[in-house]
Amino acid sequence: MKSLCILEIDLSSGCMETTSPDLTEDLAQLGGLALNARILSERIPRGVDPLGPDNVLIFSPGLLAGSGFPTASRTEASALSPLTGGFGTSNSGLFFGGDLKRSGYDALVFRGQAKNPVFLAIEGKMPRLLDAFPLWGRDAWEAIEDLEGLYPKASMALIGTAGENLVRFASIQNRRHDAWGRTGLGAVMGSKKLKAIVIAPEGKVKAFHAENFRSIRQQATQAIRASRYYEPFKATGTMGAMPVYGKFSALPTRNFSGEPIPEWSRNFGRSLEERYIRGRMACESCWIACGHLVSIEKGPYRGEDLKALEITPTITFCAQAGLSVEDSFKATELCQRLGMDMVSAGSTAAMAFELWEKGKIPSPHTTYPLCWGDGEAFCRLLGDMAHRQGMGNILAEGAARAAKKLGEAEAAMHIRGLEIPMIDPRGRWSSFTFGMLTNIRGGDHLRCRNPFENLKENLQDEDLIWEAFRLPEAEYQKADIVPASLKKKILDSERSQVHLPLMARWSEDLITLFNTFGICIRPPLLNAIGPTLLSETCRAFTGRDISPETLMQQAAGTWDTIRRFNLNQGEGPEAASFPRKFFLPAHSLKGLCPEKLTLVLKSYYRARGWDDQGHPPKRTPDTRMV
Ligand code: SF4
Repeated sequence: MKSLCILEIDLSSGCMETTSPDLTEDLAQLGGLALNARILSERIPRGVDPLGPDNVLIFSPGLLAGSGFPTASRTEASALSPLTGGFGTSNSGLFFGGDLKRSGYDALVFRGQAKNPVFLAIEGKMPRLLDAFPLWGRDAWEAIEDLEGLYPKASMALIGTAGENLVRFASIQNRRHDAWGRTGLGAVMGSKKLKAIVIAPEGKVKAFHAENFRSIRQQATQAIRASRYYEPFKATGTMGAMPVYGKFSALPTRNFSGEPIPEWSRNFGRSLEERYIRGRMACESCWIACGHLVSIEKGPYRGEDLKALEITPTITFCAQAGLSVEDSFKATELCQRLGMDMVSAGSTAAMAFELWEKGKIPSPHTTYPLCWGDGEAFCRLLGDMAHRQGMGNILAEGAARAAKKLGEAEAAMHIRGLEIPMIDPRGRWSSFTFGMLTNIRGGDHLRCRNPFENLKENLQDEDLIWEAFRLPEAEYQKADIVPASLKKKILDSERSQVHLPLMARWSEDLITLFNTFGICIRPPLLNAIGPTLLSETCRAFTGRDISPETLMQQAAGTWDTIRRFNLNQGEGPEAASFPRKFFLPAHSLKGLCPEKLTLVLKSYYRARGWDDQGHPPKRTPDTRMV
């Protein structure tokens, strides 16, 4: 397997060098998340200021980015998070990862802090640090327009106003509509005075065994097309799940009040697609094209064209904050322009609305009312957060810090400092919602999801340990879970159930592999591609032979590494807990039982080979009993 080529950029001195660490036998050699975990854990000791020069910001495309493998476009960006104080990491697609690989680099590592704003331009294979003074102060879309004049077809990663102002949940925008959104990496980029990365490559990405790799790509394409999730997901993208969460009463209505939203399915289902969608958007090597381009033809936002109507912003803005659909489009656009994570910004603003409605925000902090459903006030508040003005300056610290400052710590809906998206676990208990608790980056749904989730079923298990499977036998048979003895434990075919802690561990490790290979984790992919196909792909693409079992074992090792990193940064056992609201009943929802939850968590720790407090062994063993 060829060695890695990492471009290291010291922003303090302006020096650049390429390095080729010898990581043979390690998953990190494949790039993506595994590489970032390795670099951060080696370079960030306890006590580093996330917004200081010693933090390190890494962009690593997954192994297959740019190779033509279905959806292989993803890049993992990581740093010590200014929002959570732990492992900050986020994943994004489009063409950035493929373009970085085509320019000959497997990763970019930024350290230090520039004195004045700069941007990195890679043309062909030539990297240069250039003056970004004229771009500083421009929002992300304005800066893209300026840069497009110089580099018309380049890939771009850049920060907007929020990143420059060190808003703790600032995103790094991946061109106009996509982002490395979660954990505040935009603030790290802003602290380094790095406005943008622009890549205009020349080369090609080549496989070790070109013929074999072509055949594996076809095999993967067929498997994805055969997935039961493929047709529905291709037709509706993430929006297909919108009505489901309403039906389960699992919406985060008004900052997780538990209140159902009448007519949710009718108002926020397929009718939205018919009314607004004007086109589709896709990442490199993806024909699924799940991104929805939206045009607004009437009303105050007439003429707006943007990528919206994804489930996450729509639920965050419309359910959690109570906005209308068109106000949610405006909020989406603002987050993209200003460079803020939509989940964190939306959740933090929704918390402010709740506190204002309850009279818990003293008047000097805000000069305008924050009434549920007031889109204008909501959008104004987003602007104030990005510019750190008035109340926005407090909220720019993230929900947990802001709530504490306002003396209302329990109002913040977060885990490990990261705001929780989308789903109320009291309404829908599954690996998906349990995974928010075990997620190495905090309250988030994208690092643990059952590849066989059955959204038609919502059987709430009293002991919180089982999730309904109830899919056809063929689905059980084709599930690529190795070894077979583990498959039997995770998927109980007799009772047609999924063992939730074991599935959480399995899917976290599988997603770690996806984020290392650079493949999208959308349902048809996660359902269709397992470690056996990944192992064959790795052999054809790199020449390196890693068995499916070893791949999963190494992914578990990466998860352990990140867990150790978080513990080393000072994370205590209390971090793995839900906000108090989830333990209380509300409307038709029953509160979760804390004692039962503790048992599920312990079962999960055991499945990982960790102790009862969630501490992994000093070194990941080569084999692990489940
Ligand atoms: S499914 Fe959607 S997010 Fe995933 S690669 Fe395709 S277009 Fe990108």
